[in-house]
Amino acid sequence: MADPFDFAQGRGCWLIANFMAHNCSSLVLHCMDFRLQPAIRRWLEQQNLLGDCDVVSVAGACKDLDEGVGDFIWKQIDISYRLHNMRQIILMNHTDCGAYGGRMPDDENKHQEIMARTEKLIASKYPDIKVKKVLVTVGEQGEIEWQE
Ligand SMILES: [Zn+2]
Repeated sequence: MADPFDFAQGRGCWLIANFMAHNCSSLVLHCMDFRLQPAIRRWLEQQNLLGDCDVVSVAGACKDLDEGVGDFIWKQIDISYRLHNMRQIILMNHTDCGAYGGRMPDDENKHQEIMARTEKLIASKYPDIKVKKVLVTVGEQGEIEWQE
């Protein structure tokens, strides 16, 4: 097979080689909030996941799964699992999330609880999927930290 990074052979070659692999390690479920995009992209790069994960971006991340109205998200998980052989889900809620009405009392713990419940739901449907929970904390000045 052609070297997928041999740009001398043209962009088409690279795309085809890349598409033939067709597996990815992970699915990331994060909030759609556009303000988090640059930070999430950097985090994915640091984790070596950029180009190796399906991305599901919905308001509140775990919210719909946790509230039992996540059929759309379950469908994305199922496609990723079957089509891309994904075997790790990264749940990524963030504090001060508008989908939850902004900062909740005991905000960080609430999000940890929501992600823990979502992890159990996933484990009951997909026991062979590893779940990683990452909380993005957004400070009063917009400073971001990662709790893994
Ligand atoms: Zn949000």
